[in-house]
Amino acid sequence: MTERYADVIIDIAHEKVDKVFQYRIPPELAEAVCPGVRVHVPFGRGNQEKVGYVVDISAETDYPAEKIKAVIAVDERGMSAESRQIQIAYWLKSQYGSTTIAALKTVLPVRQKQKPLEKKSVLRCLTPAETARAAAACAEKHQRAKARMLEALVTEEELPYELVRQKLNVAASTLQALEKQGYLKIERKTCYRNPVRVTDRREDRPVLHPVQQRIIDEVVQSCREEHPGVHLVHGVTGSGKTEVYLGIIEQVIAMGKQAIMLIPEIALTYQTLLRFYKRFGDRVSVMNSTLSAGEKYDQIERAKAGEIDVIIGPRSALFTPFPHLGVIVMDEEHENSYKSETSPKYHARETAIQIASLCGAAVVLGSATPSLEAYYRAGQGQYRLYEMKERPGSRVLPMVHITDLRRELKEGNRSMFGRKLRDLMEERLAGGEQTILFLNRRGYAGFVSCRACGHVMKCPHCDVSLSEHRNGLLTCHYCGYQERKPGKCPVCGSPYLMGFKAGTEQVEEAIHREFPGARVLRMDADTTRKKESYEKILSAFADEEADILVGTQMIVKGHDFPGVTLVGVLAADLSLNRNDYRAGERTFQLLTQAAGRAGRGERPGEVVIQTYQPEHYSVVYAARQDYEGFYGEEIAYRELMGYPPVEHMLAVLIVSRVQEDGEKLGEKMAAFVRKAMGDVKGLRVIGPAEASIGKLSDWYRHTLYLRHGDYQVLVEAKDRLERFCKEQEQREQTVQFDFDPMNTY
Ligand code: ADP
Ligand code: ZN
Ligand code: ZN
Repeated sequence: MTERYADVIIDIAHEKVDKVFQYRIPPELAEAVCPGVRVHVPFGRGNQEKVGYVVDISAETDYPAEKIKAVIAVDERGMSAESRQIQIAYWLKSQYGSTTIAALKTVLPVRQKQKPLEKKSVLRCLTPAETARAAAACAEKHQRAKARMLEALVTEEELPYELVRQKLNVAASTLQALEKQGYLKIERKTCYRNPVRVTDRREDRPVLHPVQQRIIDEVVQSCREEHPGVHLVHGVTGSGKTEVYLGIIEQVIAMGKQAIMLIPEIALTYQTLLRFYKRFGDRVSVMNSTLSAGEKYDQIERAKAGEIDVIIGPRSALFTPFPHLGVIVMDEEHENSYKSETSPKYHARETAIQIASLCGAAVVLGSATPSLEAYYRAGQGQYRLYEMKERPGSRVLPMVHITDLRRELKEGNRSMFGRKLRDLMEERLAGGEQTILFLNRRGYAGFVSCRACGHVMKCPHCDVSLSEHRNGLLTCHYCGYQERKPGKCPVCGSPYLMGFKAGTEQVEEAIHREFPGARVLRMDADTTRKKESYEKILSAFADEEADILVGTQMIVKGHDFPGVTLVGVLAADLSLNRNDYRAGERTFQLLTQAAGRAGRGERPGEVVIQTYQPEHYSVVYAARQDYEGFYGEEIAYRELMGYPPVEHMLAVLIVSRVQEDGEKLGEKMAAFVRKAMGDVKGLRVIGPAEASIGKLSDWYRHTLYLRHGDYQVLVEAKDRLERFCKEQEQREQTVQFDFDPMNTY
């Protein structure tokens, strides 16, 4: 019989997880010992008996076998909260590929000695009417932050200090000034109690529509069953999804359970958070990247101790160890930020489903533009699907115009703004209404297209666009196909065949040139680098300090700009021709979400989409706000090409100091899987190829892609490749795995 060994951690804490000890598993315990269980082991010179946690099981050991001590017994007390965390870490490691330590550090918080907590809040001192008058006076004097603070206090008697500082973006000095003037009071308490006192709570509860009520009822009903399952809410922007989440969470709490509410960091806005604070008071806690390690640890401790019922936060909030988790809600389920960019490269959706099934909790996914993954599985009956097609009240969806940039060029317009967009911008400037101009996040994409006819150079084997490399070669980074860049367009013969380069700065310059006098705010990676400046730009725009906001990532849920009546997408193609198979999906999401930004107030909105490919299905269906139509075309393409979600994809990234080393290893690895798994039907191995970013900070990058319909086949391929690489000559190189990648390498 082969020996098996258990990796055991004695002190389970984030900063101690690299101290792993190996023990032999005696045959009589073989079945009982698995990742997560507590075991009694002999420890140290004196073999003192200690309790530890099993974090991994292996068939090999690096030590002489006879020196390894044996596990004494499995702990009788059963599974603890920590056990579950370790099971999740083990799952992350095996499903996504990472070290045990990296997986454990993902799920365990950093331990920290914590000072006694002090909870601060901002209290209103005057009546609502007096406060409103003071706010108006401040606005008159252009004291915008003061006005903003006082306006918020008209409806709320008390607000959490962090919400005011971080999300309402009011400086501490401003608060002190207002306190001196007697408008408000900053209160310090050492214990938590309800931080939000609302003047009239009933105001905040709209009468739910039958559709909303039905979804809440069905999800809550499922929570009483053994396997509550996964529920997908597809609802247009503003259809009342958040109201549904609030309803579900409220009832889950009433059942004595807790809830995790995932929201992408960028959408954790004042308005959204306030709705949760108002509904759940001090039983809710917020997690975000600005919290210190100590603050995060404190949240986790409060959750474990049962002091809070709801945690709101981005991806990492998923690992909150609640004693009785009832539901995980994931808003904006399609967002890319739900996928971790560092190892383990887990997706929050799949991880949420795994955690929920361990805890017997329900998962609720929500989006106006569901990911292909989620909608596909709903279609297969794995998720339950709910549709919300209308907005409450009489607010209508905006009117969408499409501008054909090829025709603009033909007719002599070389500006960034087509004539339609320019006319509408002028109208808005004259009428004192606001405009948002949107440019895709990546200032330029490597693709090459014809400005005269819109033809895009694509790989004949992979049907994704080719990337232009420094050497003038057009390269497919999936399969390595290369061709020389032609001198003229192969379709229409025009010489205007070129890469597309434009950034937000150029847009800002163009506005100054073509609309002198317009007040412009710019939001991109450069202007938002500083902490809080993101909130600053948004609140300045909300206060109408600018006419035009130019940005890359402002598709923000929870931020309503009632003054915005025009949204322009400058070049939809930038996202359309990314060199990966998700380009169409991303474009559709982007255009649909952008369109949803217009006309949130009383006045109806208009949207202009400028593109070189007005006939592309992503553009056409986005303009019609037709998700099902888009999905039908997109899934047909994925089926034809065998791309996720129809099949699964494993990207292997090889990073090496010496170019040839990476190339060689890639070739060896490809040859190895082709041989070792040659009998697995349907397994495709593509590459190796130079990555789309072939060199990054002096490290060379090569990729290898594997595809198969069964995820577990790819997990096996990963395990085998990992072992194969261990046996290779040690060079300066690393290998990383990414399952169903969101980004191109
Ligand atoms: P979503 O999350 O789908 O974007 P929200 O839940 O934020 O939608 O709702 C959009 C707006 O409609 C909010 O101002 C919300 O208060 C309001 N609303 C939601 N449900 C109702 C309802 N049943 N009756 C009236 N107003 C509603
Ligand atoms: Zn052409
Ligand atoms: Zn190719």
